[in-house]
Amino acid sequence: MKSRLAIIIPCYNEELVLKSTVDTLIKVLDDIIAKEKITSDSYIYLVDDGSKDSTWNIIEDLHNTYGERIKGTKFIRNYGNQKALIAGLLSVNEIGCDCVVSIDADLQQDENAIEVFVDEFHKGADIVSGIRNDRKTDSFFKKYTALCFYKLMNILGVKIPPNHSDFRLVSKRGLDILSKYEEEGLFLRGFFHEIGLKTSYVHFNVKPRALGSSKFNFFSLTSLALNGITAFSIVPLRIIAACGVITMLGSFLLALEVIAEKYLFHSTPSGFATLVILLAFFGGLQIFCLGIIGEYLGQIFNEVKARPRYIKDIELF
Ligand code: UDP
Ligand code: MG
Repeated sequence: MKSRLAIIIPCYNEELVLKSTVDTLIKVLDDIIAKEKITSDSYIYLVDDGSKDSTWNIIEDLHNTYGERIKGTKFIRNYGNQKALIAGLLSVNEIGCDCVVSIDADLQQDENAIEVFVDEFHKGADIVSGIRNDRKTDSFFKKYTALCFYKLMNILGVKIPPNHSDFRLVSKRGLDILSKYEEEGLFLRGFFHEIGLKTSYVHFNVKPRALGSSKFNFFSLTSLALNGITAFSIVPLRIIAACGVITMLGSFLLALEVIAEKYLFHSTPSGFATLVILLAFFGGLQIFCLGIIGEYLGQIFNEVKARPRYIKDIELF
């Protein structure tokens, strides 16, 4: 069985690594083509996520060198890695492919796993998810925040395996389902898990970034995590409601105690300090809860406007 494979790469300011990444991936494609697992018109699709360096010029050069094997598009501005990935997935579905693999421009993920992904696809998997063997290459901060994020998502009912990554294969069937989802803030890791297609998992080793630096910072990671939570779980809203009920019950019991003290034991209820602490605690809790509700409101606000997810500037076929 031979399939047409597309490889998509989101690129943001990747001038230092892109050429060598594409050269390596072309070799990987040639190798899998030679083994007759994929067709010779398999290709690479690069999404330039509004880079400010010479990334797009490099993509054009690569297109001139490799012809139709290198396709791509350039966003009008930076929209973030998730949107670049979505654009890649939807574009290759329009161009045509049987399956698509997404991989980072810095090639931190092991490119040799692509062949294993294709084998799994031929065995019947619609989604093949890459799972990192470890997080040795991540900073201390990223490692622990990522672990907390996956733990929290699991508690909230979104059972994504930890050390999941956006290195995955998706079949044409998965892409067709994706094209029906019009959510602006789609969180791909949650989405591919939720649709329930047959998934297999492949472990891979992560290499350190060869050149350049990570394109994520504290704010983009926080925003990605908050979006992931609010797009996939309403459990935080239910927790707020539960907190409300528990507080009400607690204050009812407290009231009973105060009445008993006054009428049964004839002692005056004291507790100025308790009052101040309770006021400050519940004031803080209320603002925190409002913040959570605000996150969901923001999510609704973004979705209701139904703006285009991204705007393409140029496209190369
Ligand atoms: N990326 C992107 N847009 C952004 C940030 C990142 O397209 O706004 C791409 C980036 O070029 C790379 C991939 O997303 O191909 C993963 O980024 P990076 O390697 O910096 O992330 P890390 O490995 O640190 O998680
Ligand atoms: Mg990286």
